[in-house]
Parts: sequence; C-alpha cells; structure tokens
Amino acid sequence: MTQATVPIKRDKFADLMHATAEIDLRLSDFHPRTALKTAVHSIEQPRFPVIDFHNHLDSMNPKDVLVVMDRCGVEHVVNITMRVGHRAFDMMDRYHAAAPDRFSSIGWMDWNGVERDDFVEVTIDRLHRLIDHGACGIKFWKDFGLTLRAGDGELLRIDDDRFAPIFEACGKLSLPVMFHTADPTAFFDPIDAENERFEELAAHPDWGFSSSPVSKRTLIEQRNRVIARHPATTFVGAHCAECSEDLGFLAAQMDALPNLFIDISARTPELGRQPYTARAFFLQYADRILFGADLLPEVAMYRLYYRFLETADEYFEYPSHASRQGRWNIYGIFLPDDVLCKVYRENALKLLSKLR
Ligand SMILES: [Zn+2]
Repeated sequence: MTQATVPIKRDKFADLMHATAEIDLRLSDFHPRTALKTAVHSIEQPRFPVIDFHNHLDSMNPKDVLVVMDRCGVEHVVNITMRVGHRAFDMMDRYHAAAPDRFSSIGWMDWNGVERDDFVEVTIDRLHRLIDHGACGIKFWKDFGLTLRAGDGELLRIDDDRFAPIFEACGKLSLPVMFHTADPTAFFDPIDAENERFEELAAHPDWGFSSSPVSKRTLIEQRNRVIARHPATTFVGAHCAECSEDLGFLAAQMDALPNLFIDISARTPELGRQPYTARAFFLQYADRILFGADLLPEVAMYRLYYRFLETADEYFEYPSHASRQGRWNIYGIFLPDDVLCKVYRENALKLLSKLR
C-alpha cells in the first residue's frame, strides 16, 4: 500500500505553527518574569529545629552566624573548616568556644607530605588531634581523585590501598568521613551552547572538568569501592553524593552501601526540578539524608530550603550562589513530619552523638 503525502496548504494557522525567530539578545540581559500565580508559603521557622550539617563559616564571625541561626530556627551548624594545620585547630576552638552546643566542626584532609613514607601515620595522628579539638568528621574534597598528584606525578586514586588505614582508623575512632567526590554532571561536559549550566561555568571556569583525564563515573566508582571496603566506617556523600541528576543511580548506591549517608547541600536546584522522584527518594531513604546548606548563612536562604522541603509550592526560586545553577525553578516536596524531622535533625544527631 502506498501512502500519498497530502500537501499542506499555506494558511494563517499553519504559518504561526512554524514561525521561529533568530534572537539577538545577550543571555546576561535576559531576565524573564513569570506570570504564573500559584500558592506562596513563606516558611519563617522550620517545623523542627534544624541542624545544618554542611557549611563553611571560616570567613564569618560566630556571633553573626548565631543571629541568623536564631532568626530562622537553626539549632546547630557544622562548620567544615577549609584550613589545615594549627589554623584548623584555632578555627575549631573559636567556634566551639563561642557556643559549644550550637557549633560542631569537620576537619579538612591535609595532603601536605603525601609523597612521604610516613604520610598515613602522620594523617592518623592528625585525626586524633582533630578529635581532641572536637571534630565530628573529616572531609575529603573533590581534588582527591581529580587533580591531586603523588610525588611521581601520577593522579592519586581514591581507592588506592595505601590510604585504606586512614579510612579504617576513622571507623575505629567513630569519625565520619565526608566525601565531596566529582561534581555536577554538567561540569564534566564541554562548556558550550548545549551545557545547561553554561552561565554558572562561565562565572567559574575552574569548575569545568571536560578535559579531565578521569571521568565522573570513574571517580564515583573509586569512592564507592572505599565505602564498600570499610563497612564499619560511616561515610557522608556531600551534595547527594554528586548523583542528584540521577536519583535512580543514587538509590542503587544507597542500597549497596548501608554505611553511606548523603547531605542535600547545594542540591535543591536539582532535587526541586524533579519533585516526584525526589519526594519518593526522601521517603525511601529518610534515615540517611542530612540537611545541609553549603551557602553563607542568611535567613532568606534557609527559608528557601524550608519552602522546598515543607510545602507543595510550585515553580519558585532555589537557594543558590550568585551565578545560579541553571535556568529553571523548583517545586516543593511537602515531606511528612516523620521524614522532615529525620532530615532536619535526627539523622545528624546520630552522627554527631558518636563523639559526644
Ligand atoms: Zn561545601
């Protein structure tokens, strides 16, 4: 049977269906305002006291942070100090002295001397000293696996057996290990007209890893091998373990790695643009999700997080740094009270109480 093609007659409707335009407008000058009118719930105080498990306060004065915390129901903030050596201990002492029940600290992995034979020994000794100063964790940043090199110039592998005693010691010391491994998927793609985070990467060119010799998938696999290799150590995958674009993949990791917690810091933009999937994920893994902001403490910022977690509001702005993450808005996931309470504070208390 042959099919005859029906010629489309030119008419007004057909013409308007096919009209397009070449637009000469700078992206930086394009600021569309939504005409959408939907319910707006501004959550001034969270339904339960909040523990912010992922923030960086080194540049701030503890007193100023406490003012923000008191204004928007943040009970406790974990400062991940980015300092090493004595300056790290000083920073931790500063916050703990200012308000011992309001601040905790996570130490920053110090890679100085990684080429030396006694590096692992020195690092384990440093873990003890971090704990003496009240640390509730140690953070391994994305440079591990991606850019850090050994004395011979080789990239360090996250799952290098040489570092295994460090993770083993963290388990024995009940010191959770936070991994910020890899980065958003778009950061590993070319920075071009198809990159959905083009404007953000333009503002932060050093966040682009499209020419990295190691892929995001490889980094995640190296990290997961470490988590599996040390089942008695608790791990926190910062920023949804860097898999917030693919919650199915993240769920598979949560299933395979019962000692893996995640924090949601700086990932509301991703979670909030897939509200149905995100809500189901929160309900399923409610016992291992931690609240975190990873943005300078501000009242409006925290309230956007609460709006995302507590309301069913639609299409609103996400909390972010100045360059934003992408040109979209988010939807609330209206978590039930039992889940909300775990995410806001109970899960964090499980990790913090190991040392207190
Ligand atoms: Zn951070």
